Amino acid sequence: MNFEFTKEQEMIQKEVKKFAQKEIAPRSAELERTGDYPYDLIEQMAELGLMGIPFPESYGGTSGDWVGMHLCIEEISRAEPSLGGLLDVTTSIVAQEIYAFGTEEQKQKWLVPLAQGKEIGAFGLTEPDSGSDAGAMTTTAELRDDEWVLNGTKQFITNIGLENASIVLVAARTADDTISAFIVPKDAPGFQLGKCYDKMAWKCSATHEVILKDCRIPRENLLGDPNKGFAQHLSALEAGRISIAALAVGVAQACLDESLSYAKARKQFGQPIFNFQSIQFKLADMAVSIELARNQYLKAAWLKDQGKKHTFEATTAKLYSSEMAERVASDALQIHGGYGYMDEYPVSRYFKGAKLLQIVEGTSEVQRMVIGRILGNKK
Ligand SMILES: Cc1cc2nc3c(=O)[nH]c(=O)nc-3n(C[C@H](O)[C@H](O)[C@H](O)COP(=O)(O)OP(=O)(O)OC[C@H]3O[C@@H](n4cnc5c(N)ncnc54)[C@H](O)[C@@H]3O)c2cc1C
Repeated sequence: MNFEFTKEQEMIQKEVKKFAQKEIAPRSAELERTGDYPYDLIEQMAELGLMGIPFPESYGGTSGDWVGMHLCIEEISRAEPSLGGLLDVTTSIVAQEIYAFGTEEQKQKWLVPLAQGKEIGAFGLTEPDSGSDAGAMTTTAELRDDEWVLNGTKQFITNIGLENASIVLVAARTADDTISAFIVPKDAPGFQLGKCYDKMAWKCSATHEVILKDCRIPRENLLGDPNKGFAQHLSALEAGRISIAALAVGVAQACLDESLSYAKARKQFGQPIFNFQSIQFKLADMAVSIELARNQYLKAAWLKDQGKKHTFEATTAKLYSSEMAERVASDALQIHGGYGYMDEYPVSRYFKGAKLLQIVEGTSEVQRMVIGRILGNKK
């Protein structure tokens, strides 16, 4: 067992941390206030090659690995979680699903621009009446002449509202009642961007409804095995869960950073509140849980790099880290007292944002169901 990062992984972590703290962190509060989409930061992330870390250069990537990708997601999210979310959806889910299941033509056409960060990807699974029970989706895909015709509504779709978003991977039910996956370009006839959701946090992340009304796409936009589209989508979410775990660790680390410096600066009863044992114990508990969560997402990412099964590790990492981030954010706010409740302090933003991580890409309840199923199947 070797816990040392490679030279490349160390370099990615160092460079991305430097970039995120210098360019992103100072803008985070303003982005949350205005809800503006940070196109210039996305462009800089693309220039650094962040969207293509785990893919070979022949597909527009930088031939890194999933450990490096997730170290990068942690550092970006420590500065601004919604940009970690953009990386999660574009790289870990959409680009990865095309890389794993696409034809060579599909990879050249759709994966390359995603990995280069020239285009942004979206993932369309959730519908108004099917969330956790994703298999109950009602969006349909029918083969007419040489085109697939899609009808249905996908909701809460991240990224698709960005100007440079090019595609959404849509799961839909075909004539024989199986679920297949499709690459749906945003400019396909019948594709309509629905309402933009108003959210309690993550304001600069684009979340939209997608309406498919006789939406026609070429026959060759079917992704992977037509009978295994649902399994494909779920396996893409497995990588996404590692990313949500890394994202949660980034948020929790930001909470610890802020709390530590606040506790050392804030004086009550004639001394820094850091001197009080109850504050130090909160900080110690934060540091312990962040370290354990980090180890688990790295283990899951490492297993993915080795091509080994990692459902249990990805699911436990997602569940533990997302619940940990909410707990840590709450303690961070408590350490800040009344100031923590004020928008001018970043911990109030972290607190609101952390809740989302227990909902997206499978709620905590769904993660526990998956873990329970694995335990039940153990011999
Ligand atoms: C900001 C944001 C961005 C998102 N981005 C995307 C995206 O890009 N693409 C996409 O496809 N989706 C996206 N989603 C959707 C997200 O994945 C779903 O919200 C999530 O899967 C839960 O589905 P639901 O909201 O329909 O809740 P429901 O499934 O209705 O669940 C409601 C509650 O019931 C619980 N529950 C449900 N079934 C069970 C059960 N069997 N046992 C115990 N408890 C259960 C849930 O855990 C939850 O607490 C996004 C959501 C948000 C809020």
